[in-house]
Amino acid sequence: MSARPRRRAGATPVAVAVAIAVAAGAGAAVTGCGAASDGGGPGSGLVFDPCAPLSLLLDPAAPAPRAGAVATGAALWNDRAFTRLAVDSSGAANLTGGAQVVLSFQRAAVASHGLYDPAIATIFLNVDLDGDAHALAVTVAHEVGHALGLPHVAPSRRPSVMNPGNLRVEPTSEDAAALEALWGPCSPPAPPEGTPP
Ligand SMILES: [Zn+2]
Repeated sequence: MSARPRRRAGATPVAVAVAIAVAAGAGAAVTGCGAASDGGGPGSGLVFDPCAPLSLLLDPAAPAPRAGAVATGAALWNDRAFTRLAVDSSGAANLTGGAQVVLSFQRAAVASHGLYDPAIATIFLNVDLDGDAHALAVTVAHEVGHALGLPHVAPSRRPSVMNPGNLRVEPTSEDAAALEALWGPCSPPAPPEGTPP
């Protein structure tokens, strides 16, 4: 893969609106992360600039443990790579026009954890993960990694949040470096106005 840094525009509001509409009616089952169409990296569909704000849209009715695990999954990337992921469960985020990825919890017909569908900017997650907060957080981080353009990393190469089927490995410094190789480094968040030096 080319290591040339490059910038890619995030999804337009129009594209996101269409994606949400499609996702809402899709009723898709989780079909497994690791299919040929999964994890192809930039060029395989909607991918998002990790340095720009990105909302993860969660159903306002999501149970608290699920919401907490999703927030943890976002924080894993934010803490590691200065990404600007935020969980939005207001139910109104699709009106704001910012870059968004929909989180859709599904009952899977086969054993699988999650899937990022770049055609509709939607992360599908298996409801079976609800019983394991850390596994759910790691799976969210893995699928967000796909949404940010990261492909799978073979476990034989190195431990990575992007190992196929990973339920344990949080984003590593090498994962952050892989993101930086794609997009360039993200700046640390600026201190709030009025913060004493
Ligand atoms: Zn994957």
